[in-house]
Amino acid sequence: MSNDKECTVDMEVCHLKKYYKAGRHDLLKAVDDVSFQIYKGETFGLVGESGCGKTTCGKTCLGILEKTDGKVLYQGKDVHSMTKKERFAFTKNVQMIFQDPYASLNPHQKVYDIIAEGIQIHKLAKNREEEQKMVTDLLEMVGLNAEHATRNVHEFSGGQRQRIGIARALSVNPEFLFCDEPISALDVSIQAQIVNLLMKLQKEKNLTMLFIAHDLSVVKHISDRIGVMYLGKMVELTESGKLYSDPKHPYTKALLSAVPIADPDASAKKEHIMLKGDVPSPVNPPEGCRFAGRCDKCMEICRKVTPEMREVEDGHFVACHLYNKEDD
Ligand code: SF4
Repeated sequence: MSNDKECTVDMEVCHLKKYYKAGRHDLLKAVDDVSFQIYKGETFGLVGESGCGKTTCGKTCLGILEKTDGKVLYQGKDVHSMTKKERFAFTKNVQMIFQDPYASLNPHQKVYDIIAEGIQIHKLAKNREEEQKMVTDLLEMVGLNAEHATRNVHEFSGGQRQRIGIARALSVNPEFLFCDEPISALDVSIQAQIVNLLMKLQKEKNLTMLFIAHDLSVVKHISDRIGVMYLGKMVELTESGKLYSDPKHPYTKALLSAVPIADPDASAKKEHIMLKGDVPSPVNPPEGCRFAGRCDKCMEICRKVTPEMREVEDGHFVACHLYNKEDD
């Protein structure tokens, strides 16, 4: 997203909660009071270790999962209370790229049928000829060709299947792409190709993207802004460059210290923060900061009071008592 563009909010997430019952009296708080905005034409990265709630958060934002509380607005409309007509338009405008292209595409289906399905459902082609041209254009757009349309999915590699998945998502001219760890199931050697393809398409089509990943080095490359989640909470949110040059939250600092650097000298100088303990259970999480048990900066207040997200610098939000002036 270029800085000279006016920031129009595409998706607004307000105090979103998604709880699950865990046993008779317990609650699993997968997403717990999370708020953020995604601007039109930007890529918003959502990161955190597995189990932190990022995928549940993304799926609840898209209305794939019911919310427990809070609100998600897409272009001003409440995602969880859309009319049938609004929902139909929403499912065209907002498309998903799935984590595992082996599971998300029927291996015995023809590539043509997979890509043409959305075009047919939304009546986007005037006739069969136009439909064929649209399918060919989409295949070329993702680095495949017209001949691939006649083949079955099982004939393709993981990277090629993910390209087919991207072509399917783009077939209905969406405005918003939800990419749920789209490269984590792929070979390391082709991950960069898929990331570069998504970046190119995002720019060309001015797509808004919500990009979920557990790997900070991946989101850095693709995101304009990044939100870091820990155990159902958003703990830090800022521009991508800012997050890497000036991380504030102790958890973000620990995550970043684990990102490998290619330069051996720089790597040797880098501070490596070892996180103690494991991620606690999201079932009935304790009061206060959820990172307290693993944080080397933990203070008395951290175990009693949940830190709120605050803007500590322009556009840089952190949920940590270290940055709350009132706590001093
Ligand atoms: Fe650490 Fe306290 Fe900040 Fe939590 S609120 S990250 S425990 S310093």
